[in-house]
Amino acid sequence: METPHISSHALQSFPIDAQVLYKAIVNSTEDYVYIVDMAADLALVSENMAQDFALPGRLVKGLVSRWGELVHPRDQRRYFVSIDEMLAGRTDEHNVEYQVKNRGGEYVWVVCRGLLNRDEGGQPLTFAGVVAPIANKGKIDPTTGLFTQGECRKRVERLLERAEAPGGILLLGLDDFKRINNLKNHIFGDSVLRQIAQNLQRLLPPRAEVFRFDGDEFAVVCPGASPEEMERLYRTIHLCANREQEVDGTPYFCTISGGTAQIGRDADNYLDLLKYAESALEASKDGGKNRCTAFTPDLLKQRIRKMELTSCLQQSARSGMEHFSLVYQPFVRFEEGGGLQLVGAEALLRWSCEPFGPVSPVEFIPLLESSGLIAQLGRWVLEEAVTTCKRWLDFCPDFVMNVNVSYLQLADKAFVPFVLDLLQRRELDPRHLVLELTESCFVTDMPALREAFQGLRSARIQIAMDDFGTGYSSLGMLTQMPADIVKIDRLFISLINDQTHEFNRAFIAAVIQLCHSVGISVCVEGVEQLDELKTVQTLNADSVQGYYVSRPITREAFEEKYWPGAEG
Ligand code: C2E
Ligand code: CA
Ligand code: CA
Repeated sequence: METPHISSHALQSFPIDAQVLYKAIVNSTEDYVYIVDMAADLALVSENMAQDFALPGRLVKGLVSRWGELVHPRDQRRYFVSIDEMLAGRTDEHNVEYQVKNRGGEYVWVVCRGLLNRDEGGQPLTFAGVVAPIANKGKIDPTTGLFTQGECRKRVERLLERAEAPGGILLLGLDDFKRINNLKNHIFGDSVLRQIAQNLQRLLPPRAEVFRFDGDEFAVVCPGASPEEMERLYRTIHLCANREQEVDGTPYFCTISGGTAQIGRDADNYLDLLKYAESALEASKDGGKNRCTAFTPDLLKQRIRKMELTSCLQQSARSGMEHFSLVYQPFVRFEEGGGLQLVGAEALLRWSCEPFGPVSPVEFIPLLESSGLIAQLGRWVLEEAVTTCKRWLDFCPDFVMNVNVSYLQLADKAFVPFVLDLLQRRELDPRHLVLELTESCFVTDMPALREAFQGLRSARIQIAMDDFGTGYSSLGMLTQMPADIVKIDRLFISLINDQTHEFNRAFIAAVIQLCHSVGISVCVEGVEQLDELKTVQTLNADSVQGYYVSRPITREAFEEKYWPGAEG
């Protein structure tokens, strides 16, 4: 509606009957209305205000301080500061949010607004305004407009009382939301959250409700839903999230992981239910994200095992790397006459701890990474491996030691200086050391990683790209990577001689050819059989590693195998 311009003179000439206006206002609102005669310090409050709060009646002497006593002690200072500001003449407006105690003894959230009217000399005449309850304070998330976690709890607890088909909860976690926040700023991040919240609401079945949890998590509660229906709901959300979206002209991509638990069936109280849904969501994230997992008691066992293993690992690391050891797996090259010549070894970490027994590095390395222990362990592995290498140079002057390095180690600024210092301390020529990094290290363009690569290259430490073919990089990108060696994952060697897997053979052949054209050498991993070895030889691989040559073995066993009788 367009407002026609009215001069202030015209406004003043409009006759207002104060009593009529007051009645009209009080009648048309559930808010509380007050007018204070400042000189007499006497206030007139609306009927509902006198009823709902501990006030003596509609006429109240000393309202400002009486009311202040009802304000929550936590908020009192803000309330009185605002009043003082007015009395000191710095402002005529009062606008404060606080909790105030009602006659039932309950604190309710209100926003209190008022305007001070002064005489010509600037002395306060009247102070009038409105106290409005904010019913949804704390119930609604201001960013997304969704109900908060506290409301989710109430909803679930009501469903828990139902004997039949209470339904399910779907916990949703945005994948890599940090990356979205980094894309622009937090304001952009908030807009993305808001858009996702809107999408979720649109996709919900009738009677389902969505709640905003902390950070990048949401929960959907579906009364009466079966596990299959929960799964179907996730798939709908998944489809929507797997498309490029746009906020304020900026495109973004944000997939969503899920975890479900059944109300009543999986847990009979809210906190357990939430914990179970969390562990299901965690399993989805661990499994590669952008997927949904339904809670099973087994999942809880896995989570407990992870926690127990982590605490054992911490203990081991604290007590001088007790229970950790290294084993060495040789790799060899083909000799002219068809024989195999030892080139070097890959150092592989082992850990065995009661009551678990030997635990695979596939299981414990991620735990070292998530607990922050990897930096310390990584340094220990390098110290050990370099010491062993130094010793073996006496038997094999060109020996090369390969050490696995996690992406988190490489991102640490202290890593490269540590390696350089280590080589110097142990007097080892860098040509004897190869650091193995997985493909994903090469394809991210984090400045810290690029710096580390440069540092290693200028120190002439060789870099191997590990597990090639399992990650994201393409054949075309391969030659752009700062790698000296490419290790083709053992996935490709199994079935290399199977007619139906012609692809694997062609893949290995192509990688070898491409690498050779730019001076990168190729190691084929996981060779277990003689016929596999022969095929790899015809494809011109530079080296091979695998059970056919040897399993990973202890330092003593390695020496016994390659240099029997030599003095250590
Ligand atoms: P990886 O770097 O790919 O290491 C090779 C893995 O393949 C080793 O498993 C080895 O025992 C296994 N292997 C070797 N030849 C064959 C074969 O012919 N057939 C089969 N089936 N397997 C073979 P392992 O020792 O269990 O290590 C698993 C992974 O743990 C390693 O994969 C590596 O990613 C990680 N890892 C091991 N030690 C360390 C370490 O000190 N630091 C870091 N960051 N990661 C490590
Ligand atoms: Ca490796
Ligand atoms: Ca590998």
